[in-house]
Amino acid sequence: MFDVLIIGMGAAGYTSAIYAARYKLKTLIVGLEDGGMGLTAAEVGNWPGTIEIKGPDLMENFKKHAQSFEEVTQKVARVEKVEKIAGGFRLTFQSGETAEGKTLILATGSQKRHLGVKGETEFSGKGVTYCATCDAFFYRGKTVAVIGGGDSAVEGAAIAAQVAAKVYLVHRRSAFRAEPYWEERLKSMKNVMFVLERNLVEILGDAKVTGIRIDKPFEGSDQLAVDGVFIEIGSDPSVDLGVQIGCALDERGFLKVDDGMATSVAGVFGAGDATSASNHFAQFVTAAGEGAVAANGVFSFIQSAGANA
Ligand code: NAP
Repeated sequence: MFDVLIIGMGAAGYTSAIYAARYKLKTLIVGLEDGGMGLTAAEVGNWPGTIEIKGPDLMENFKKHAQSFEEVTQKVARVEKVEKIAGGFRLTFQSGETAEGKTLILATGSQKRHLGVKGETEFSGKGVTYCATCDAFFYRGKTVAVIGGGDSAVEGAAIAAQVAAKVYLVHRRSAFRAEPYWEERLKSMKNVMFVLERNLVEILGDAKVTGIRIDKPFEGSDQLAVDGVFIEIGSDPSVDLGVQIGCALDERGFLKVDDGMATSVAGVFGAGDATSASNHFAQFVTAAGEGAVAANGVFSFIQSAGANA
């Protein structure tokens, strides 16, 4: 039996594994997407101590660090089921294999939100994607639209504008939620058109995307010719496994955790974007901090369970 089972291989999960290993806890880290949402960050300029690093490179560093401990076992697999057993928890993977641990850390992250407009499903993968920073490089010299007004959209539009001929940033309001750093950078780019106070209502195309339709005309037309559409309207927390085991959610649907990252179920901790912690501020630094606190909670939980045995 492992001391701790960690589900999720993003910044939160890997940091939990590093801290758990230093507490000498026998650790299993399991996940489907190695690197998590961190892979989508083209340029990370707010990881303290490093002026700039690419998201995939930062995640590779996290992974190498976790793998440097003999206490850590890593497994790439989908967890289908999580259940309470005597003395801990059991995970069942898609393959039917199982793993058991005394405690559990849910670092399950989040999934990109869909817009639900006409043409979105039809052209998904044919010009419609949900990660501007990952896919922008396929649109060199082309015209793209980025939808949204948060960090993902504004950073994504700035990255896309480095390679695309033209970028339309379509946002339903005139103010952005994004870091002023990215907003300022985007506004200085000559090939970016701000299509503000407008909603995307339809994605147009034949075999692939050819344009978008918006709810109010922009420069005289309610249609914009584009080759690609990046929908960046935020993410929803991945809480299915937490719900399965009985963890309470907050009013916004995130895993409810206390100051020690403990969920409502004894022995189950949370960390990262799936949780209510850090004021829902999804950053590398908050995910890593929460991962450290969760591993510390696991250590205390195991120690007190041992003391009471
Ligand atoms: P977000 O901050 O939730 O922003 C989502 C944006 O999409 C908002 O501007 C919102 O408009 C818009 N939106 C939402 N639903 C919409 C709809 N149905 N139709 C049209 N527009 C819609 O999401 P995010 O940008 O993905 O960021 C998520 C988290 O990750 C944040 O904590 C962010 O700081 C973090 N993140 C950080 C970085 C970075 O530090 N560089 C990069 C990426 C993400 P309104 O503004 O009108 O609500």
